[in-house]
Amino acid sequence: MLELIDSHCHLQMENFDRDREEVIRRALASGVSEIIVSGFDSISNFKALELNSKRNLHVTLGLSPNMRRNENLEFIKSQIIENAKRIVAVGEIGLDRVKSRLPFNKQKGIFKEFLELAREINKPVVIHAREAELEAIEIARRYDVECMLHCFNGSLKALKAAQDSGCVISISTMIVFSEKQKRIAREANVEDLVIETDSPFLSPRRGRNEPAYVRYALEEISKIKEIEEEELASVLTANSRKFYRLECPDTLG
Ligand SMILES: [Zn+2]
Repeated sequence: MLELIDSHCHLQMENFDRDREEVIRRALASGVSEIIVSGFDSISNFKALELNSKRNLHVTLGLSPNMRRNENLEFIKSQIIENAKRIVAVGEIGLDRVKSRLPFNKQKGIFKEFLELAREINKPVVIHAREAELEAIEIARRYDVECMLHCFNGSLKALKAAQDSGCVISISTMIVFSEKQKRIAREANVEDLVIETDSPFLSPRRGRNEPAYVRYALEEISKIKEIEEEELASVLTANSRKFYRLECPDTLG
């Protein structure tokens, strides 16, 4: 069977409180071997850590530029430092010109602090960048950390900059509907790609998205790249394992 990784989702959100176990079971049954759960503020970071004891679930802690409440930057940094051994990356962090209520300069300052922290604790970084992809890439490349641009939806120029900087490009299930995402998949190198659901958001079907649906992104990219699903899945999964430094099951004694 195909092996897939959902490289970014929010399984800790209350949208899954009713049936989280069932959702995880469906994901595993459909070939998703690992699920990366991303925090985006202090509470979602806590909730992500609570899921961390489950096998197949991995956690990233961060602060989205679209946080809803007043967040204490120092508190979130201490969450990351205290749990450094339990997390696979810092994120999501980033820049957002569309949804953030913070002034752009303030966003940049916070983004830099987290990049600095990620470098100190030697973790890769999951970046949320919206209408700010080039700036995010430009800033991140100064920090010598491995970066993933989650749900990448930037211009082809930004894609080129991302490739030149060695960033991993994450394509979401939104590709099912989005001509822009299809074009990104066409232009990108498979070696730089991973796939994600960003669930509960960006569903490729009616209703809530969930990790099992990451295969819809695989199907689309397979058609676009004319690469067999099985072969493509093994490349994308290896890319995600490498980025998040996940052990390969075969090498576990
Ligand atoms: Zn997200």
